[in-house]
Amino acid sequence: MDINDFVTTLDLHDIGKEMYGLISRLFPICRSITGNGFRETLDIIKEHIPLNVFEIPTGTQVFDWTVPKEWNIQDAYIKDSRGERIVDFRQSNLHVVSYSVPIKGRVSLAELKKHLFSLPDYPDRIPYRTSYYKEDWGFCLSHKQLLTLRDGDYEVCIDSSLKDGHLTYGECYIRGETEEEFLISCHVCHPSLCNDNLSGVALAIYLGKILGQLPVRYSYRFLFIPGTIGSITWLAGNEETAFRIKHGLVIVGVGDEGKITYKRSRRGNSVVDRAAEFFLRQSGEPFEIEAFSPYGYDERQFCSPGFNLPVGCFQRTPFGRYAEYHTSADNLQFVKPEKLADSLAKCLSIIHIVDSDITYLNTLPKCEPQLGKRGLYEQVGGDSQSKRLQLAMLWTLNLSDGENSLLEIAERSGLEFEIIKKAAALLSEQSLLEQTSRPKVTVRDGVS
Ligand SMILES: [Zn+2]
Repeated sequence: MDINDFVTTLDLHDIGKEMYGLISRLFPICRSITGNGFRETLDIIKEHIPLNVFEIPTGTQVFDWTVPKEWNIQDAYIKDSRGERIVDFRQSNLHVVSYSVPIKGRVSLAELKKHLFSLPDYPDRIPYRTSYYKEDWGFCLSHKQLLTLRDGDYEVCIDSSLKDGHLTYGECYIRGETEEEFLISCHVCHPSLCNDNLSGVALAIYLGKILGQLPVRYSYRFLFIPGTIGSITWLAGNEETAFRIKHGLVIVGVGDEGKITYKRSRRGNSVVDRAAEFFLRQSGEPFEIEAFSPYGYDERQFCSPGFNLPVGCFQRTPFGRYAEYHTSADNLQFVKPEKLADSLAKCLSIIHIVDSDITYLNTLPKCEPQLGKRGLYEQVGGDSQSKRLQLAMLWTLNLSDGENSLLEIAERSGLEFEIIKKAAALLSEQSLLEQTSRPKVTVRDGVS
């Protein structure tokens, strides 16, 4: 069974519910770019797929960046003059600005307001705020609640710690036929937010579960990392072997109701870029293809000029284009099981094309080989599907000059990838095609 066969047997209803269940379990954990919430999340991921966990010490130099101090939090609140918790971390971890330094004391409303964040345009929502690289403290609350605060003193407490420790990340490696790699990366650093980033985490986990059971050509490397600093840290630690990455996807925001959006790699025409566009175009469903830009998620680091890895971004509605983004409205109601399942199936289909994109050589290139005497016309009857298979064999023979891969033949013929793949298999059985030697892993060929 190959990836495509698996996709056709996938029960989208059940798998969507499973993915949603996993997101529901991860939702309450207070994650940040470092700390115990991140570790707890990796422990749950480990229940589903094999995971190596790495701990990189605070202060480690990673290119132009430094691994930050580790942040942990126990509790936080604002109490009014009656001693009642009016803002309570236990109600929502979004109430505390991530990486807030510890504080305990009484402050006036005017002083407190310098540390409060709300969204006047969405007065019911709590914003998500971070202060990773500037030592500060703050609370986030709904604008509605902010407006109810009366003059007077407030007791504030953030029971957190910001100390030397570690940056934690997880890696899952599935060995394929070749050492060449397909990278799947997702950020795991957001607290109780669903689409950004738990939907991407769930999709990556399910890709790992599924690809781990199937025969695959590429080796698959999954990264569960904190955004930005995680990919920088990983690339700094794996600079010598990053060239093995021949294809990659950053996965994020795959549970909302928007259409699939694929953002190209910096190269713009890498195999994964073309496979994504080819599949989405043939899917008959709405989709969007976006050009690369150096703004977004960890593709920014993978596609930095010193690496220039062919890594695109697979998502539904891009960040910042849905009003729930980075607010308490990106919750368990915002992501839909059926959209998670749809994203999984489509992502697998794109991976399937990349994984099956072999280049063949026509062994009898001078004029057309006689298909009839090899029984190849017997494979084809009179119906339209058979005619398409015949056409697929002619295209595959004609373009298999060692230069064109199956994806290129599918693109040029306008036929489905699967029928080209089937034609190639039939022709190979008759020794009319032979696989060209796979490009070797050459030093730095992923780097320009
Ligand atoms: Zn985010």
